[in-house]
Amino acid sequence: MSWWRSVEPAPKDPILGVTEAFLADPSPEKINVGVGAYRDDKGKPVVLECVREAERRIAGNLNMEYLPMGGSVNMVEETLKLAYGENSELIKDKRIAAVQALSGTGACRLFADFQKRFCPDSQIYIPVPTWANHHNIWRDAHVPQKTFHYYHPQSKGLDFAGLVDDIKNAPNGSFFLLHACAHNPTGVDPSEEQWKEISKKIKEKGHFPFFDMAYQGFASGDPERDAKAIRIFLEDGHLLGIAQSYAKNMGLYGQRVGCLSVLCEDEKQAVAVKSQLQMLARPMYSNPPVHGALIVSTILGDPDLKKLWLKEVKGMADRIIGMRTALRENLEKLGSPLSWEHITNQIGMFCYSGMTPEQVDRLTNEFHIYMTRNGRISMAGVTTGNVGYLANAIHEVTK
Ligand code: PMP
Repeated sequence: MSWWRSVEPAPKDPILGVTEAFLADPSPEKINVGVGAYRDDKGKPVVLECVREAERRIAGNLNMEYLPMGGSVNMVEETLKLAYGENSELIKDKRIAAVQALSGTGACRLFADFQKRFCPDSQIYIPVPTWANHHNIWRDAHVPQKTFHYYHPQSKGLDFAGLVDDIKNAPNGSFFLLHACAHNPTGVDPSEEQWKEISKKIKEKGHFPFFDMAYQGFASGDPERDAKAIRIFLEDGHLLGIAQSYAKNMGLYGQRVGCLSVLCEDEKQAVAVKSQLQMLARPMYSNPPVHGALIVSTILGDPDLKKLWLKEVKGMADRIIGMRTALRENLEKLGSPLSWEHITNQIGMFCYSGMTPEQVDRLTNEFHIYMTRNGRISMAGVTTGNVGYLANAIHEVTK
């Protein structure tokens, strides 16, 4: 018997494929600016000191019992404070339904499934471009997708007019997926004024904003500042959802720790929504993993460790911001006639360089530089040691 005769190999993931090609290249000069994980200035993965210390503290006390279906209560509580504010009335009033999720991806997926179950005829509006997995997530949850304007290729900035038009033209009560900060892949975020306007327009239309916040603290170095967009929406009285992740800002990529929250009208509604989120999780993975959640709750529950984390997350953000400046300066020094201002205007892990797929192919084939063909450079892969080489290669293929 062969049940799987008709199964064709799945297409390769464009991002993971880049890393495979990088690993297979024997050149000593090779650079991987495809990967979306932080690296230090030597190009090495980083485990934060606050995480090491939390692990030391946990080691003696850890048992391997199941967490509740909704995950670690302490972790979720601390996580909500980061997004909604330390002294949020909404938290005090118990208006937020929140569960631990399998990192940011799992939080988005759980929300998409929830959306499908309770608003079966709804659609999701997704920015162009977006993190490619957003499309997969809502597709597999069987939620039809629409897009809205976001990036403006000519200015390499925000297409604010297009975005506002699309908000206005969407049917009332639509779901909008927004990146809370450090938009992936473009690094283009609305300004505070623009967020205020977006919030107002979304409110006028009665849309539901869902924030994917995969990079809180990673954009500016300050988690409070990076939550600004969400806080503006909260002030305007929206009901909203948030996917949070500790992959980047605590470097807990493989631990899969995150949170999905849905702000409800009152406590009663929040209890109902939470119970339904748990009901969705139960047949999928029953309950979330314990170790990463304990690391997070240990760090955020201890003022000294939290302070250390804030320092370390700022250190990561500052290194990336520094590399943006260095890359731009190097290109300008080489006499590139093109404008590279967008490298320093954009924020977060990625720089949407504006290079064409053909130019990216040349970078890879002639210079052993690996990245996705959309021209996205992961600034985390740029170091003081390779920024000169990278700038020179970019200059060569763009002149
Ligand atoms: N959303 C966005 C926009 C992302 O860039 C990422 C990470 N690449 C995620 C969500 C999810 O990451 P994780 O599941 O590792 O938290």
